[in-house]
Amino acid sequence: RIAWVAARKGTLPAEQRIVLRRVGLINPDDIEEYILHDGYTALGKVLTEMTPNEVIEEIKKSGLRGRGGAGFPTGAKWSFVAREKSAKKYIICNADESEPGTFKDRIILEGDPHSIIEAMAIAGYAVGADEGYIYVRGEYLLAQERLRRAIEQAREMGFLGKNIFGTDFSFDIHIHTGAGAYICGEETALIESIEGKRGQPRSRPPFPTTYGLWGKPTVVNNVETLANVPPIVLNGADWYRRFGTPSSPGTKVYTILGNVNVTGVIEVPMGITLREVINIYAKGMKGGAAFKLAQTGGSSGSLIPASLQDTPMDFDSYAKAGVALGSGALLICDENTCVVDLVKVLMNFFRKESCGKCNPCRIGTQRAYEIMCAIAEGRGKMEDLDQLLWLSENMYLLSNCGLGQTAGTPIKDMLKHFRAEVEAHIALHVCPTGVCKIKAFA
Ligand code: NAD
Ligand code: SF4
Repeated sequence: RIAWVAARKGTLPAEQRIVLRRVGLINPDDIEEYILHDGYTALGKVLTEMTPNEVIEEIKKSGLRGRGGAGFPTGAKWSFVAREKSAKKYIICNADESEPGTFKDRIILEGDPHSIIEAMAIAGYAVGADEGYIYVRGEYLLAQERLRRAIEQAREMGFLGKNIFGTDFSFDIHIHTGAGAYICGEETALIESIEGKRGQPRSRPPFPTTYGLWGKPTVVNNVETLANVPPIVLNGADWYRRFGTPSSPGTKVYTILGNVNVTGVIEVPMGITLREVINIYAKGMKGGAAFKLAQTGGSSGSLIPASLQDTPMDFDSYAKAGVALGSGALLICDENTCVVDLVKVLMNFFRKESCGKCNPCRIGTQRAYEIMCAIAEGRGKMEDLDQLLWLSENMYLLSNCGLGQTAGTPIKDMLKHFRAEVEAHIALHVCPTGVCKIKAFA
């Protein structure tokens, strides 16, 4: 938002707004304002001019990839559900945004709730589903309120319910609120939670596309992913491909946090670099300090050292560089940040949020946290570093879901890029940044 305000004042290059184009411009509580800004036109277009298969082909052609963090091709996911021969199918919007530092979906939900409703109805038409759920993070009270109002308005206007646009397509949406568990953002834990069970991940496969909500084929899409759908339908896949990179078309919404001059939310084309984000949108490092690292995607993201500042931020360039783009949080840290302290905080998060279903994650995250505490307090041993790597590898290989599989990523990144700093804590009993309070060693 701040970047948007600054851009309007002419101090920053304009963002490329596709999913945020109405945010801040329309009253999100007023469906008429949404309609005046092209709202529900894409739904009308698919219902009156396109077959379900044509909709899926257009989304496939656009190259849209999941914006929850994993970058899975959206058109392919829809086609998996469409080909299932079940009489009942579901669309779920994953709005349980809980990655620390990530609040991009919240901005969309609060600022343009109808765009998600419209996108879910389009997805329902494309795959043959007549019912959808929006699973909203429990703490997002304003988003819940606005979504509820928007759903009521859409029903009153006939955009949800029976025979939408006078066709034989019917679709309706329910809201389900979370209760504060990070793990319920994992798609199968989310499904279990809607079904009234404890929010613990299932084993995949089967993926939700074949065995989802109440065992039925289900599309689970992130908020930002869905928000891209109506503009793609309206303007076409070729238009969408003009933004971003060939393998990651479109834009990405990022939340910028940390030791920079300007923090907030921006929407920019896929493929811009971290250096550009810091210098252009965040207006440089605070107090002129040097950049040390950025953490992408919240807790499950990667630590990006200065040497990767010029890597294009898109799914494949990041993967090629051995890092993950994640869900869109950019925590920018300066030279005064202690990497040991940072990773300790992340391990604390993982051990608390682990659902406890499988041993590698439940025990591994706890043990990793204990070792990080020991290193931060000057009690670490050199062999602890091998133990940390062993834990990371085994959590990655043996954990049931993404939480455990990615919990060791910050440890691996820390030891790959900042090993000397970690070793200083152990061998010299010194925290080079002075953040860790290491007592004089006996
Ligand atoms: P994943 O790569 O396993 O799957 C991504 C999506 O593709 C899922 O919907 C999955 O069902 C689908 N999929 C993958 N292979 C499939 C197949 N063969 N057939 C059908 N469908 C298939 O990733 P994930 O474990 O679902 O999610 C991990 C991501 O979530 C990470 O990138 C992380 O950054 C992100 N994350 C985001 C938040 C947030 O708040 N936004 C929180 C935690 C984690
Ligand atoms: Fe639960 Fe962790 Fe196992 Fe995932 S990996 S199922 S969060 S214990």
